Amino acid sequence: MGSDHSGINKCLLQSEALQKYIFETNVYPREHKLLKELREETEAKIPGRALMSVPPDEGQLLSILIKVMNAKKTIELGVFTGYSLLTTALALPKDGKITAIDIDRSYYEIGLPFIQKAGVENKIEFVESEALPALDKLVEEAKEDDLFDFAFVDADKINYHKYHERLLKLVKVNGLILYDNTLWFGTVTGSPDPKYPEWINHSLESVIRLNKELAADPRVELAQVCIGDGLTICRRLG
Ligand code: SAH
Ligand code: CA
Repeated sequence: MGSDHSGINKCLLQSEALQKYIFETNVYPREHKLLKELREETEAKIPGRALMSVPPDEGQLLSILIKVMNAKKTIELGVFTGYSLLTTALALPKDGKITAIDIDRSYYEIGLPFIQKAGVENKIEFVESEALPALDKLVEEAKEDDLFDFAFVDADKINYHKYHERLLKLVKVNGLILYDNTLWFGTVTGSPDPKYPEWINHSLESVIRLNKELAADPRVELAQVCIGDGLTICRRLG
């Protein structure tokens, strides 16, 4: 993603005041100290890109989902500086494990000190790779009795449909596969528009197509959540 955010809304809610109210009343007071530090470090070091991090309200939803389902083994595609990764690591039990895949390790290095300070680095296996070949390797090695409980997909949007086919083999029945940014800054109701930044238009058709495909996919139960930039929660059916 680039750093040009002109012509798009950063929040899906129509009222910025309401967004501010939610964050100040419910979200920031509950944000883990090290998540806050990681968020602030990301904003300080790469301000133009900090928008890419999962916002704290969405992080808090991920945390509850991971805990109520007793997830132990999770996978994340698209780590960036690690806000969603640290959220997941804090939510998992002591023996929990996360396979975290990103094409670029340098962002992860920015968040790593906070992950270490939180004492959860041992739960993380970071894989520096394009997501697709890494997933194909995991599919090859997959064992039916050792599949993932939970997957969080937040990498390049144009390949989400390919990740979906692999994840349906890697995530167990009743497990969750979450797709982030599925409302794409609210642009999914229209067509590419010259007033949007180029990186928005680049993935718009892919996001629209993914939403249609997921809605029609009999292999999953689905909930579209209007939080962050839109989160689609899929439960794998048997
Ligand atoms: N979940 C993160 C945000 C991810 S931003 C958080 O909460 O902070 C998207 C990330 O996807 C970027 O770090 C980018 O390097 C990564 N990415 C982009 N294309 C990718 C690909 N083909 N394979 C793996 N990672 C990719
Ligand atoms: Ca995202």
